[in-house]
Amino acid sequence: MEIYLDANATTPVLPQAKAAAIQAMVEDYGNPSSVHSTGLKAKALIDGARARAQRLLDTGDGALLFTSGATEGIQTAVLSALSALRGNLNADYLLYGATEHKAVPEALKHWNAVLGLGLQILAIPVDAQGRHDLEFLRRHAPRAGLVCTMAANNETGIVSDLAGIEAALGDSPCYWLVDGVQALGKLSLKLRSSRIDYAPFSGHKLYAPKGIGLLYVRAGAPFTPLMAGGGQEGALRSGTENMSGIAALGAVLAALEDGQTLRDSATLQGFRQRLADALCEAFPGLVFNAPLDLSLPTTLNFAVPGLSSRLLQDLFDAADVRVSGGSACSAAKAAPSFVLQAMGLPDWQAAGAVRLSIGPAVDEAFIDEACARIRACGESLRRHCLSPADNLPTLGEGITRFMHDGACCYLLADSASRSCVLIDPRPEQVDRLVQALHCQDYPVLAILSSSGEAEHAEARSLLVDLLNTPLRPSAAVDALGWPSGQDALNLGDRRLTRKTCPQGQVLLLSEAQVASVAAIAFTGMLDAQATSALSLPLAASCFLAPGRDEAQQVVLGLEDAADTPHLLSGAQLQSFMQQHPNALLVDVREPFEQFLSQTPELAGAQMQAVALSRLMNALPEWLDEPGRPLLFFCRSGNRSRQAAQALTRLGHPNAWTLNGGLALMPSFSAKAPAADPALYV
Ligand code: PLP
Repeated sequence: MEIYLDANATTPVLPQAKAAAIQAMVEDYGNPSSVHSTGLKAKALIDGARARAQRLLDTGDGALLFTSGATEGIQTAVLSALSALRGNLNADYLLYGATEHKAVPEALKHWNAVLGLGLQILAIPVDAQGRHDLEFLRRHAPRAGLVCTMAANNETGIVSDLAGIEAALGDSPCYWLVDGVQALGKLSLKLRSSRIDYAPFSGHKLYAPKGIGLLYVRAGAPFTPLMAGGGQEGALRSGTENMSGIAALGAVLAALEDGQTLRDSATLQGFRQRLADALCEAFPGLVFNAPLDLSLPTTLNFAVPGLSSRLLQDLFDAADVRVSGGSACSAAKAAPSFVLQAMGLPDWQAAGAVRLSIGPAVDEAFIDEACARIRACGESLRRHCLSPADNLPTLGEGITRFMHDGACCYLLADSASRSCVLIDPRPEQVDRLVQALHCQDYPVLAILSSSGEAEHAEARSLLVDLLNTPLRPSAAVDALGWPSGQDALNLGDRRLTRKTCPQGQVLLLSEAQVASVAAIAFTGMLDAQATSALSLPLAASCFLAPGRDEAQQVVLGLEDAADTPHLLSGAQLQSFMQQHPNALLVDVREPFEQFLSQTPELAGAQMQAVALSRLMNALPEWLDEPGRPLLFFCRSGNRSRQAAQALTRLGHPNAWTLNGGLALMPSFSAKAPAADPALYV
């Protein structure tokens, strides 16, 4: 069963809302503008839904119109205010809270340009708690034409001090837009008694379907329709009404009014506290990015030192728990959340944020299950050396890659000699590496830098301080971390040497039997072409491990072939297996994900689990069997594509990726009993 903890992004549709929508589509399908009985029924439905919204929001004699959602409501409000300003331009600024949803500043920019107003658009700073800087507002309000402030923030849940903002506006003639999207159903808004001119709301954040919203317009506030036409909604918004959406929203508002289906604030606070406790237990060192006492009782935003937002999202998703990254993640780089940056939080918190949000319809049993899953996530991290644990060394032998913002750090571990070497660590990875090294418990022979970057040296000195004495490498090292006077290190049967080149160094790893030619080269800043040009003692089949990997290549060869792997859809899987009974299915998810989720079971199929971070270790074996199809799979198809591309580039003719990943194969993503971590390389 999925545990959906991403209600601030959107919610499922309440059963009674779904029933109302179906009724409006199938039985009461009239056009509310028609004067016959079927039309009158539809009209009554709209009037009823609107009346509920008016009561709940206490709109007085203000207008309340149905829109397609909050983005449309915001456009309409901004267009209305700016059209009025154009006729009477007595302002310099358009102000918006620095943590507003993008729809607000983008609408301000758009309509300011379209209407040719040329007003200066300024962000109102927020303090460390995400609250608006009221002093800034007091200073700028007298010359402001429109001020936009949200009632509650979608990322942090921080509730704005609307009374303080209203006071700071003083007797400014400006218009005031309050984005009420995240407040609906969670905070009481009494619009009649405030000077708010415009307040947009969105149905899909509160159990109605997508495509329906509301806009409140204060009586007397200027209004310019965004859409002209048949004169529906009292000519404020033309176009035949979205009757199924309105019916569904009406049913949600009825549930809000009857007080039975949706929980009150005190109950939600209790639920959130239980989730917060489970998180703190599961992830030692966790910090909340917003004070809970100033936030909606339905939102938690946090970061865990040493664990990226992406890793945490993969972890939760493997446990069938849906959360959201507090930051937008592009392919390999995590873009820090602008909301948390505006609050002045440290970079690691802004880049590593995770948001967990519940809707007010959740119940005790749901929270019990959510807490159990969160604890299981913590357990998985402990078992896989990502969180403090007692004596559970399962970190693999060989090469493990750790990524941070496109930069690659490598851990080379040898169990026979019980020793390891670290290459190119970054300060942001130190917590995670310390955890891994303590868990593995092998003395660290050296912490090396291939390119001489200052960050590597900084990470080395942090690691040396944090590792306990038996693990700590020797103190006497040169600028690149090599024990003084040494150019080679033995790691069991392997030998690591260095070759200096103008861009730094290339570190060459060779097997003892063929010590003179390298099987793997850690190329630091060099690409494959530059490495080939150096005429190093590299085996023809040498793998190149790059120092940066924004392009998500994972591993390169000296003579790369094209890298277009074969794509397989979930629907083709069975027939693929019939055609290729000898195919090897490779799960490239990390062991901490595999532990939490089910692995596909296909009768007779041979499976191997090799996390993408440890792909390098399995390459020789796979490349030795070019006739055997390799089908890589992961959660979303991204990591399996990287693996299949790498194999194709290295010359394997038969590497496949499961397009769209397990996410598109629901029967495979369900929670199952914990797998044995020892199964995974
Ligand atoms: N404002 C806030 C605070 C939101 O969270 C969202 C949705 O993410 C919007 C506006 C946009 O709403 P809609 O999806 O209805 O256009």
